[in-house]
Amino acid sequence: MRATGLAGVAIVASLALTGAAGCAKKDTGGTTEAGVALVKAGTLTTCTHLPYAPFQSKDPSGKVVGFDVALIDLVATKLGVTQAIVDTPFEGIKSGADLNSGKCDVAAAGMTITDERKKVLDFSVPYFDATQALATQAGKEVKTLEELVGKRLGVQGGTTGEEYINTQVKEKNLKIEVVSYKDLAALQQALATNQVVAAVNDLPVWNEYIKANPGKVVVAAGFDTGEQYGFAVKKGNAELLKNVNDAITAARSDGTYDKIYAEWIGEKPAS
Ligand code: GLN
Repeated sequence: MRATGLAGVAIVASLALTGAAGCAKKDTGGTTEAGVALVKAGTLTTCTHLPYAPFQSKDPSGKVVGFDVALIDLVATKLGVTQAIVDTPFEGIKSGADLNSGKCDVAAAGMTITDERKKVLDFSVPYFDATQALATQAGKEVKTLEELVGKRLGVQGGTTGEEYINTQVKEKNLKIEVVSYKDLAALQQALATNQVVAAVNDLPVWNEYIKANPGKVVVAAGFDTGEQYGFAVKKGNAELLKNVNDAITAARSDGTYDKIYAEWIGEKPAS
């Protein structure tokens, strides 16, 4: 055991020397000039869970684009690096596991700021307001959850929408069969193919879906959950968080935010 340990020390020491000799002044390859440590040099690595249009989804060429992507690009520009996007399940994003393991620097996934998530992630200032909405096929509208008793209602696993529905079903003791899908595409597919009679998700993603598939699906009811989205960094990563917050604040005051909003979301609700 002892011999192995010593051998390990020797290897580490020689690697450290190689590193110092190979790159004299840059001792931390993944640190920007502003002193922000990144998991990969020259890159702001973003974790997201695709698809989640209009916040993040692939364009016809396969490039990931959207509202969140455009905002995080501002952070990358500020840091003098480029954004690279990693598609990964939502569970690892919201639990902090992906940020903690160094899979990415920042999480941008249309993610709602919640007290539970705040325990494991450090959130930016809010960058978007959202509510939950119940979608059905056109002509098959239901207005209340009570109308879904004895029927199947789809939700997306790990989301605030799923949590909201599970709480409602329990509190009101509604015998609804809640079916959880692994991502938004699977949920929308389930609604389109009658596997569920209604589906719950964030309102802006239904609005986007309806824009892309006119006449098929409608928002039949809304639940004013008063959610706000935040970008997240690993707990304690104050340097990066400051840059994220500064980029959002600057974009809000110089009109860039409104431009990005108009491009990806559409007309701004009167406030
Ligand atoms: N806003 C929802 C949440 O945070 C959904 C996010 C998502 O599915 N990407 O749970």
